[in-house]
Amino acid sequence: MHMSEKAKRIVLLVLITMSILPILLVLRLPAEASVKQWALFASALTGYLGLGLLLWEFMLGAKAFFRLWFQDLAPVLSMHKWLGKYGMPLIFLHPLLITYAYGESWLYSLVPQVSTEFERQVTLGRIAFFVLLLVWFTSAIVRDKIAFRPWKYLHYLVYIALPFAFLHVPKTGSQFSEHSGVRAYFFVLVGVFGVFLTIRLRGLLGADRVDYQVTRQQQLTKDVYMLHLRAIGSAISPRPGQYVYVSTGLVSEDHPFSVVKSSQGGRELIIVYRRYGRFTRYLSQLRSSSRLLVSGPYGAFMRNVAASRPRIYIAGGIGVTPFIDTLLTEKQALHQLFYINKYRDNSPLITELRQVLGKRLVEAYSQEPVAAREGEVIGRLNAEVIASKIQHPTEYDYYLCGSKDMTQSLVHELQRLGVPRQAIQTEAFAW
Ligand SMILES: Cc1cc2nc3c(=O)[nH]c(=O)nc-3n(C[C@H](O)[C@H](O)[C@H](O)COP(=O)(O)OP(=O)(O)OC[C@H]3O[C@@H](n4cnc5c(N)ncnc54)[C@H](O)[C@@H]3O)c2cc1C
Repeated sequence: MHMSEKAKRIVLLVLITMSILPILLVLRLPAEASVKQWALFASALTGYLGLGLLLWEFMLGAKAFFRLWFQDLAPVLSMHKWLGKYGMPLIFLHPLLITYAYGESWLYSLVPQVSTEFERQVTLGRIAFFVLLLVWFTSAIVRDKIAFRPWKYLHYLVYIALPFAFLHVPKTGSQFSEHSGVRAYFFVLVGVFGVFLTIRLRGLLGADRVDYQVTRQQQLTKDVYMLHLRAIGSAISPRPGQYVYVSTGLVSEDHPFSVVKSSQGGRELIIVYRRYGRFTRYLSQLRSSSRLLVSGPYGAFMRNVAASRPRIYIAGGIGVTPFIDTLLTEKQALHQLFYINKYRDNSPLITELRQVLGKRLVEAYSQEPVAAREGEVIGRLNAEVIASKIQHPTEYDYYLCGSKDMTQSLVHELQRLGVPRQAIQTEAFAW
């Protein structure tokens, strides 16, 4: 049965909601109507709901699993982020409510104690609390202020937090010890965690990746490179617009790159990348016969391309990669490219694109002081500039790729021209 991506998102939301409903049914309301008893009940509720949502957040990070269902992982990852930001605080309410219900000092949940077996079990929960607080703070509050790697490695602490959170329940939870429905719910959560932990560890250890060998590396501009890869064993076969994750070894970071060209059923792949940080610096030093691991393909960008409609491609710098093959090989007189770069001498494949596209290429330079060629746009690309370059903007389909800021601002500019949102597809090179 074919299901649209939007319908899949709705099904996923319904599944998430339904998965937390059972705990609302099995938790027993307090026998006495005292504030402390209600606080105890609310602590159990927030604890189990928080665990359920945290588990979903963990599951949604399993790229290899959700790739089988969703064409594009971006909505799955934004749900993952949303749950992390708003679901995790539920867990933080849990120790506060417990502290109040027990009539303890506010430091009770914060200071580890190991004097009795019960306290040792509570301390497992305290460890989970601290770790989750750290993960939440770095992801939801100060994500923009810390570098990518410290954030990423702190994020992996969720692998530790969830087991600690699970472990503290059996010997401390009064609802757990008294009601079999609560126990059943808890063990289902633990089982699902086990399955997704296996899926995610398989992914981390490279089970979903295949071997490729570098056959050629070309430097295109001062910091842009073209990497030619050939499959050693089995291959993955991306279609235009899709991307793959590239890693350098079994225990390595993996980074997404759009596939510029895939031939022989994916046995030959080409990616073009900008040297940016640690990983792309490493890639730029690879020589022929170096090995890389590749997984995917991922993404739904350019999936439903209407053959009969003229297209405008708008690329910000290295965001041209998903379009290069189509533009250089299709030679379709109706399609145009708006190519935005900072400087002329750092625009990947500009010579080839000029040759093939001629007047169908609009070059835009944000940092060059003056135009060197007729028709060049200097400065910001906005609705007025686009309207000055094409006669009937609403008659085109638009494909935008580049930074998040660029794609968001251009969607807005196109809508100002009356282009409907459904006629615009975007791919941002960061999540
Ligand atoms: C769907 C997609 C397709 C992309 N296609 C291309 C391409 O064709 N050519 C190209 O040059 N770049 C592409 N990128 C961007 C590329 O992935 C980053 O430039 C690269 O990962 C930077 O790594 P680094 O270590 O060199 O730099 P760093 O400075 O370490 O990372 C810079 C930024 O890259 C992003 N990033 C790094 N690793 C990941 C990751 N595992 N997942 C998501 N984002 C990450 C983060 O936003 C990070 O802040 C694409 C990104 C996405 C999301």
